[in-house]
Amino acid sequence: MQAEVLSVGTELLLGQTVNTDTTIVAKALSALGIDLLYAAVVGDNVGRLEKAVYDALDRSDILITTGGLGPTQDDLSKEIAAELLGLPMVFDAESWEAIGKYFVKIGHACPMNNRKQAMFAKGCTILPNACGTAPGCMIEKDGKIVVQLPGPPHEMADMFRRQVYDRLAARTGGCIASRFIRIYGMGESQVAQTCARWIENAEGVTLAPYCALGECQLRVTARGRDEDEALRQ
Ligand code: ATP
Ligand code: MG
Repeated sequence: MQAEVLSVGTELLLGQTVNTDTTIVAKALSALGIDLLYAAVVGDNVGRLEKAVYDALDRSDILITTGGLGPTQDDLSKEIAAELLGLPMVFDAESWEAIGKYFVKIGHACPMNNRKQAMFAKGCTILPNACGTAPGCMIEKDGKIVVQLPGPPHEMADMFRRQVYDRLAARTGGCIASRFIRIYGMGESQVAQTCARWIENAEGVTLAPYCALGECQLRVTARGRDEDEALRQ
């Protein structure tokens, strides 16, 4: 299965927020043995978000979006995914109640525009948010899986760990594991040259040199049913 992560938020493109969500999701997908082939960032703009979701659905089996689940007009991740999958948005009373309770807990009145956060693509699995207001969701349609997670990293990471990981594991199985060999006294091109025959002919593993501060690293990556099996390759 091939996945794509799409992080939504103009603040990411302005360099105001570091895209840690993608890193967290990427690590989890490796542990699940799912190939992450694209990781994109798009601003809060209807046209460009539509195009990004359309392209992702076209080329990947699994699309994971982060951000854009908030209550405001420019939070459009769920609406656009539903529209492109041909699903209507429906109101979920249970989620609306949970959002109300969250506001009671933090001692604020619940604004009516938060009701938007209780709207979901018909038939999806709703992922309650234990740390904030925006629930996520997982939509399955025509062989595609779309997982939609909130932007704030602690909310996103908690939701992924508790509600998404096992659901994806049930459909995939396996693990992609990497180890780094640290090499001193040789530059990247020298390492590449010396290891060329392994880099080109390695079976079941991929090798890639990286230039790092004061050293060169050779990444060795393999796939297996679990981490132990991957590391034995
Ligand atoms: P909510 O409205 O419930 O906070 P949301 O899904 O609308 O959720 P955003 O408004 O997009 O989320 O982002 C909320 C916060 O999370 C912002 O502070 C934003 O900078 C941060 N954030 C969003 N996306 C990312 C990301 N990819 N990596 C790290 N932080 C992010
Ligand atoms: Mg946003």
